[in-house]
Amino acid sequence: MKHTKVKELLNSAQTLQEVYVKGWVRTFRNNQFIALNDGSTINNIQCVVDFENTPAETLKRITTGAAVALKGSLTESKGAGQKYEIQVTSLEILGDSDPEKFPMQPKKHTLEFLRANAHLRVRTNAFGAIMRVRSVLSFAVHQYFQEKGFVYVNTPVITGADAEGAGEMFQVTSLPLDNLPRTEEGHIDYKKDFFGKHTNLTVSGQLEGETFAMALGQIYTFGPTFRAENSNTSRHLAEFWMIEPEVAFNDLDDNMDLAEDFIQYVIKYTMDKCADDLKFLEGRLLEEEKSKPQAERSEMTLLEKLNFVLENNFKRVSYTEAIDILKNSTPNKKKKFQYIIEEWGADLQSEHERFLVEKHFKCPVILYDYPANIKAFYMRLNEDGKTVRAMDILFPGIGEIVGGSQREERYDVLVEKMKTLGIDEEELWWYLDTRRFGTAVHSGFGLGFERLVLFVTGMTNIRDVIPFPRTPGNAEF
Ligand code: ATP
Ligand code: MN
Repeated sequence: MKHTKVKELLNSAQTLQEVYVKGWVRTFRNNQFIALNDGSTINNIQCVVDFENTPAETLKRITTGAAVALKGSLTESKGAGQKYEIQVTSLEILGDSDPEKFPMQPKKHTLEFLRANAHLRVRTNAFGAIMRVRSVLSFAVHQYFQEKGFVYVNTPVITGADAEGAGEMFQVTSLPLDNLPRTEEGHIDYKKDFFGKHTNLTVSGQLEGETFAMALGQIYTFGPTFRAENSNTSRHLAEFWMIEPEVAFNDLDDNMDLAEDFIQYVIKYTMDKCADDLKFLEGRLLEEEKSKPQAERSEMTLLEKLNFVLENNFKRVSYTEAIDILKNSTPNKKKKFQYIIEEWGADLQSEHERFLVEKHFKCPVILYDYPANIKAFYMRLNEDGKTVRAMDILFPGIGEIVGGSQREERYDVLVEKMKTLGIDEEELWWYLDTRRFGTAVHSGFGLGFERLVLFVTGMTNIRDVIPFPRTPGNAEF
């Protein structure tokens, strides 16, 4: 007999004579009531054990964390808060879990403790919910682009192009580090390395993605990205997943429309599919915020925040307007910002982005037309000669969630820019070919998947929305 998922049983249209389930014991009360979870839903199914007719030896082995298989009848529950329960007729312990040693006891654990036990934290309600939401969100990403006819492209994880400049890179090598081959001049001889050249883990698939957009029209990538940034923040990982659409013939306005529509779609999709998990996470957030001072608590619940994003357009603000707002803001005048905004051209720090989103506009903001010299070489120069068609999308509680631009499609302008920045043309010969042959206006963006998961789950530390986080000093598991 094949076992049935708990989710299916809880949604059953009727009571059932005989059911068979397998799962893990969350709690065992009064020597009688098992709360059983099998990961198919946040909800446990109550299994009532006939303790008078069950050997004491077996009852003792029903402990939190144990794997069990049980048969019984699905009946209407007399208990509050659940429609059905299982009257157990036979029970088998599949795997014991020593209650003295199993770390995930049914009590409140700190997020730090859970991070140290990332292999077991997924057995808690919160992490089960987060990981199901993450899974559904990633499916929504594919669903959105596939419905619109985008082609999914797998750009390389190991890259020979290190001119990109999106962040610090991890080097990939098979050279013996304790005995490096040297050239006559004494430099490391990368010709002897595995690929015959210096290689890194990718920081972005954009440049390769652009080459595909210039043939397939609309493409997206969704894969792991690596940045050796030594910034231990709650929003940066050394290994994270990025979604990068790239579309031929799209200008910056089209790019903004796409990003906004995409984000709203995946959030809506996930709200429809993960109602129970999100309801749980909303409660978790309320609980967590109770320990914060009133001023730091959010004005909206999690679901209200998600609905707000669905129902309101993102506010589009040019960099120049943003600088004016910031210059005249109270924290700037009272020198409350760590970095005071003095003049046009300043790079925006996360404190400024958060002020704009959380205090000033109180909604998602798309900042665009940034000064050319604080943005990447491939961004389209505006007619003013000093700004580029860049856009960053800023979210409340998160900061930057998307970075994108219209790309510089003019060969001469691009090469000129590369020269100024000292970027080797020869190394990016293949990238420049897109501008040599059939160049056209095109645009794209990168969305950090974990930042999206943070927003949707209401979690506050990026380490808690990826199964096994990679951060400076930590690569356990
Ligand atoms: P930030 O200023 O927050 O470091 P960035 O300007 O370096 O971001 P981009 O290079 O534009 O970011 O990358 C595109 C997107 O990837 C960002 O908008 C963000 O959502 C995400 N992202 C960037 N770096 C990280 C990281 N270290 N961990 C997780 N997500 C990241
Ligand atoms: Mn960065």
